[in-house]
Amino acid sequence: MTRDVNSILIVDDTPDNLRLLFNILSEQGYRVRTLPNGELALRAVEKEMPDLILLDIMMPILDGYAVCEQLKANEQTRSIPVIFMSALSDVFDKVKAFRTGGVDYITKPFQAEEVLARVATHLTLQDTRRQLQAQNEQLQAVNTQLERSIDELEKRNLEMRLLNRMSAFLQRAEYEREAIDLILPFLRELFADHPGGLYLLQPQTSKLQQVATWGKEPPDEEELSSETCMAFAGTRVYLAEDPEDRFQCAHCHQSSAGIIPYLCVQLMTRGGPIGLLHLRNGPDTSEKARDHWQRLAMMVADNLALALSNLGLREELRERALRDPLTGLFNRYYLYDTLEREMSRAERKKDSIGFILLDIDYFKKYNDTYGHHGGDALLKAFGGLLQRAIRRGDIACRFGGEEFLLVLPEASLEETYRRAETLRQQAQEMETHYEGKPLGKITLSAGVATFPEFGRNSDNVIAAADQALYQAKTEGRNRVIRAVREA
Ligand code: GH3
Ligand code: MG
Ligand code: MG
Repeated sequence: MTRDVNSILIVDDTPDNLRLLFNILSEQGYRVRTLPNGELALRAVEKEMPDLILLDIMMPILDGYAVCEQLKANEQTRSIPVIFMSALSDVFDKVKAFRTGGVDYITKPFQAEEVLARVATHLTLQDTRRQLQAQNEQLQAVNTQLERSIDELEKRNLEMRLLNRMSAFLQRAEYEREAIDLILPFLRELFADHPGGLYLLQPQTSKLQQVATWGKEPPDEEELSSETCMAFAGTRVYLAEDPEDRFQCAHCHQSSAGIIPYLCVQLMTRGGPIGLLHLRNGPDTSEKARDHWQRLAMMVADNLALALSNLGLREELRERALRDPLTGLFNRYYLYDTLEREMSRAERKKDSIGFILLDIDYFKKYNDTYGHHGGDALLKAFGGLLQRAIRRGDIACRFGGEEFLLVLPEASLEETYRRAETLRQQAQEMETHYEGKPLGKITLSAGVATFPEFGRNSDNVIAAADQALYQAKTEGRNRVIRAVREA
């Protein structure tokens, strides 16, 4: 910090000295004030701080030492350099001069060069001291800022690590429920100051179902309507900060006093929204913290959306890979996988397994009469009948178009026949409706065979059942035929 013109205060009870010094210093361009005694000097300094003081020692009432002591005792005036002036003839105590806080002394009579040289030196020193102090203060400020930044960085670093770990956990999960259980501890830690909830969208009802909550006083609504949530009304993210805001989500209206600010972030996938991340107020309300909070929430929501939708697709695929979509029965692929296991178990336990292959009679005509959709409705209803008819451990599967296979572990040929016969009768009595109108009745033909009597592998047993089914068809349909062993 440099000053344009340095100001100097001269205190001396001898008017000649004041005049002389005033002239010497003014000529050099200094701003000079002169005062005849210590009391006036102390008062003047309080009003306007000079850059340097030339102070006579020998003065009546308040001598130079006393004035200097008082200046040094005052926090505000302490740093002003004081140069003592003393006549050569005076009894002059240099040690006392320095001890009271003087930086230098000049003896009278004055040598102009000496006065100017000493004044200039101390002004420069003073200036350097001031600069140093300013720089120190700046450095301190930078340090404080740096420390704050480091704290901030460490926090961000931790958050990123948590996010990464959460992401890895999500990838390991097999099912949605498992994934949610796995990530809950991460949400608790990431949003320690923000109680909140995770909601998944029920596509049929457009309701948001609560699947997890965390924090003190989390939201208690089990179900929200996506239609009244601002994050679903245009923007993906909604941050509510103003209690007067008219556009608050319906699920936050009631207790607005307690939950401002809050944040709603949609869980968004390419196929559309799948859920909501809802967070409530934290103690830190600075704009920067709020910004960061929002960004972090969006990152978490993106991560969750991606992982949960992947899991959903995987579950759907898994389901689709095993089930026939029309009837809800297992499909052929599932059947072959499971048969292997069932047969080796039956072999160990010396058990038999019953097979019923059944086929709806004249189904082509049925389709012709009621249309393909009517035919579908019938197949669906028939699938339901089979599912109700089977017992624990049995397998019902759609084998092909209107052909079904039932596998009954531990059933003998006779028992299998009886079960098939019951089914035949039930099918005959089944009533089905399509678009409010009743559909016609059906009959079915079935062939039954057992493992291991009719073959050591499933293909052979099924072939034997198919042979019996063929016989049932040719003998007039609507009947059950047992396979016969070839001689
Ligand atoms: P049969 O008594 O000899 O079994 O006569 P059928 O007409 O039932 O036998 P066929 O095998 O000649 O015809 C089977 C029909 O089943 C033909 C096909 O259009 C129909 N079908 C197969 N899958 C479906 C389906 O998913 N939905 C509908 N509506 N019809 C199907
Ligand atoms: Mg048929
Ligand atoms: Mg057929």
